[in-house]
Amino acid sequence: MFNNFHHSLKSLTEPLWIAGPCSAEDEQQLTELAIRLKISGAHILRAGAWKPRTRPGAFEGFGAPALKWIRAAGDASGLPVITEVASAKHVEQALASGIDMLWIGARTTVNPFLIQEIADELKGVDIPVFVKNPVNPDVKLWMGAIERFMQNGISRIASVHRGFSSFENSTYRNKPNWELAIELRRLLPNVPIICDPSHISGDAKMVPTLTQIAFDLQYDGVMVEVHLNPAKALSDAMQQITPEDFSHLRKQTIVRQPTAKDPVELSKLHDLRDLIDELDNEIIEKIAGRMEVVRKIGQYKDQNNMAILQLDRFKEILRTRTETGLHNQLTPDFILRLYSLIHEESILQQDKQMTKPELRASSKTEKH
Ligand code: PEP
Ligand code: MN
Repeated sequence: MFNNFHHSLKSLTEPLWIAGPCSAEDEQQLTELAIRLKISGAHILRAGAWKPRTRPGAFEGFGAPALKWIRAAGDASGLPVITEVASAKHVEQALASGIDMLWIGARTTVNPFLIQEIADELKGVDIPVFVKNPVNPDVKLWMGAIERFMQNGISRIASVHRGFSSFENSTYRNKPNWELAIELRRLLPNVPIICDPSHISGDAKMVPTLTQIAFDLQYDGVMVEVHLNPAKALSDAMQQITPEDFSHLRKQTIVRQPTAKDPVELSKLHDLRDLIDELDNEIIEKIAGRMEVVRKIGQYKDQNNMAILQLDRFKEILRTRTETGLHNQLTPDFILRLYSLIHEESILQQDKQMTKPELRASSKTEKH
């Protein structure tokens, strides 16, 4: 399979299952787990030696000595092994210990200097590198990290989607923002994309659903945290699943095909897509019609010297549209996001109708 694991190919020949504990805790435990994972159909064993924790005081991994355990578990199970590196020093130690592949953590991808340092350390070493998304929802930063490795001659690169931190209350530990991962795939179509349902959810119960979503979205594989005894795990205890759960997940997950083979089935899809195209045209025309009315309201407000933003009116719109949405199987959250977008554009369109004070010649200063 790894012959095909090349960034010049769109994807792997079969979905990649990477599994293993958040962190390597001891050699015997890791070896037992690795053997069970191999039997259940995992392709790569993951385990962290260095754990970037948000705050000091938490378990930060056993460091360099754990590399030896990871190598031993790989040898005993026959699985290639992958670990996280966050500095040039880590790279040096991981390579010296014979680690097969490296991943870059979300807290490292945010820092172009660190990424460059790691990429420079890897010059001339053609080891597969998996680049997690940065903690913040910035596709260009994620892409930039991947490009730094490509520039330095790393030919086997995959991206790992592990979700984005958010200030809002959410059911996820890290919000998936699936559209950002899809955008990365559009920008870098030859880079395989792997989903990490464990760090997205932060909750073992959600891992199967997220894994299925990833395959429904044509991801090239998953990286799942598995521990012999999740409740006792030294890091990320809530989100790790047991080897039995992994075996079940491996069997239950349905891998979707990019396209249906039967032409009759395919034609049904075409018909449905034609319908979607028509509806989308109608949606755009309706929104354009709405904006036309909005511009008239802008002119009215200008003539009557009224402020553009009328918060009570916006609240009323949200309330009534949420109600209509609920009657039509649309969630309040969707309506809120849709109308926030429409409202923002409406304000911009109205603002263009408002009379602006003339700028004095002297205040038309240079552009930055
Ligand atoms: C991990 O994989 O255990 C990890 C620390 O991941 P992330 O960088 O996604 O937080
Ligand atoms: Mn973890």
